[in-house]
Order: sequence, then structure tokens, then C-alpha cells
Amino acid sequence: MKKALVCGAGGFIGSHLVKRYKEEGYWVRGVDIKKPQFGPTHADEFLVADLRCKKSAEEAVSLPFDEVCQLAANMGGVGFIATNHDAEILHDSTMINLNMAEACKNAGIGKLIYTSSACVYPKEKQMNPQDSKCPEDSAYPANPDTDYGLEKLFSERVFASYARDYGLDARIVRLHNIFGPQGTWRGGREKAPAALCRKVAETPDGGTIEIWGNGQQTRSFLYIEECIEGLRRIMAANPGLPILNLGSEEQISINDLAKLIAEVANKRIAIRNIEGPEGVRGRNSDNALIQKVLGWAPQKPLLYGIQKLYPWIEAQVNQQAKA
Ligand code: NAD
Repeated sequence: MKKALVCGAGGFIGSHLVKRYKEEGYWVRGVDIKKPQFGPTHADEFLVADLRCKKSAEEAVSLPFDEVCQLAANMGGVGFIATNHDAEILHDSTMINLNMAEACKNAGIGKLIYTSSACVYPKEKQMNPQDSKCPEDSAYPANPDTDYGLEKLFSERVFASYARDYGLDARIVRLHNIFGPQGTWRGGREKAPAALCRKVAETPDGGTIEIWGNGQQTRSFLYIEECIEGLRRIMAANPGLPILNLGSEEQISINDLAKLIAEVANKRIAIRNIEGPEGVRGRNSDNALIQKVLGWAPQKPLLYGIQKLYPWIEAQVNQQAKA
């Protein structure tokens, strides 16, 4: 039986990935500083451990794993990463990634995926909301708009150097705004789709929601199913892959995203744009390279994912109201 290790298994993408590994018949160890928030883990074994500690990283990789997915990170949406959490993000995630790279090297791990982010791309390239595609080779000269993005770029270099110098089979993937059920939806770390679904769910028909910025900033959003499919395809590919984007190319403004959610909710909702953290003006995946090297790229429309996310968030909101 193949063995997989998922670090960050208590988080959004990690818990979905564990489930997929189990469906594929793997034996899975999950590691996280906390257990999954929205249900029991599907992992065979779950270690609650702090990967900022070298010893915990060594314990995490203590079995002969065929595959390791390093997703653990101190992260959140723009309301978290753009609002004075730089020191903790840089400190925590750098330590986690350095410890994991070293532990995987020493343990002779088979294959590893490191989840980087679309936030690595330089802010100068993302001034125009209508022209914001990010091909992989545009990450340098480096100038991400947040230290979260800079840490991701640094940790990409850590895993790439361990691949070059020690033969670690590291695959690096830049995720672009993943969304879906079982992700954070309140508390300050939630991302735009979850935050907007929550606002719409909490607002009566005919009401108004607030959106940070002028709402013309654009992004693309990838539904969790396709993210997991992409990660599994990247893991299954031959070694020597270049760094790849994993995202949707369906660009949408934040105001239009809110309108789409209101439509799915079947509510008339007005938007009030207010000052607040909003990030770069535009950011969209460029899927030419992933299509070329894998012969596959995400295809599902945004609407497909929103139709699944909204009812889940609405149920959370209703449950909380009752409680
Ligand atoms: P998440 O916050 O839900 O999951 C990250 C997990 O890491 C959390 O469960 C957290 O408890 C865990 N963690 C944090 N510090 C830890 C520590 N010291 N030791 C052990 N575990 C620790 O985030 P996610 O959305 O599931 O993201 C997973 C990965 O993908 C992250 O590396 C993130 O930066 C990257 N990513 C996500 C997105 C997205 O849109 N969700 C976009 C780009 C990149």
C-alpha cells in the first residue's frame, strides 16, 4: 500500500487532499497544528504537531512515504496577509518550509509537492485589471505585493535548491485562489468567495453588502475539485517539471463575483464599495504551460463552484445563528 504524508491536513486544501488519497487507496498520515475544523479527518493517522519545530518535521516524515504534500503555512485572504501579519507569516512559514525540506532530504522521501501561490508575481505586472495573466516566467525580477508572496518565492527557491543539490524530487505549484466547502468562511482569514457568500447569506433579500476597494479589481478562482485533480496530476507526472500555475483563467471583478453569488442565492443585493485591503488590481492564471506539460488544465466554470460553495456557507451561517 502506498503511503502519503499531507502537511497542513487540518486546513482547507489539505483535508480535501487527504480524502482524495484515501479514495485512491493510499495509507495517509496527516500533520497539522490543529485538527480539521469542519469534520473528522479521513487520514489513517493524524499528528497534531508544530512544523516550526525541527523535531516535529522529523517525526512527520518518520515513515517511508512515497509522496509528501507540504501545504502547511500561516496564511489567509487579503484581510489577513495585507494587514500587518508579515512578521508572523515570514517567521512561521519560512521555518516550516526549511524544516520540511531538510527532513525530507534526510529521510530520503520519494516525491514532494510544495504549494506556492499566485501572490509571488510582481505587483508592477498587476496594475491593469483587464490584462493580468501571470505566466510562470514573469515571477522575476521579484517584487510581490505582500511578504506572504515573498516568503512563497523564497520557499520555492528552498525546494528547488534541495532538488538541485540533493536530488529531492520536488514539484512546485503556484495555486490561484482556491475555493470550496470546508474552507475558512469567517474570522479574518477567509478569502473573497467565502467572505462574499457569507455576506450574501447574512443579508436579507433587498439588502446591501460592503466590498473592499472599488470592486473593479479582478481575480480568477479555482474550485477545490480541480485543484485536487491538478495536484494529483502534478504528483503523477515524470520528474523534472517546471514550476506550474494551477488556477482558472476565468477572470472576474470582485463586484461581479458578488453579483454572481447573489444570483445563485436568488437574492437582490446592492453593493457598497468601501475602503479596505484589496491587493493588486488584477491577477489571473496563465495556463499555457500546465496545458503544455500535463496536457490538462482546469476547465470548470466559476459558476459550477459557486453553486456548491454558497449552500455550504449558507448552512454554516444558519447553524451559527441557531447556536
Ligand atoms: P489553510 O490555512 O486552510 O491550511 C494551512 C494549514 O497549515 C492550516 O490548517 C494550519 O493550521 C496549518 N499550519 C499553520 N502553521 C502550522 C504549523 N506551524 N505546523 C503545522 N501546521 C501548520 O490554507 P489552504 O487554503 O488549505 O492552503 C494550503 C496551502 O496552499 C498553503 O501553503 C497556502 O499558502 C497555499 N495556497 C492556498 C491558496 C488558496 O487559495 N487557498 C492559494 C495559494 C496558495
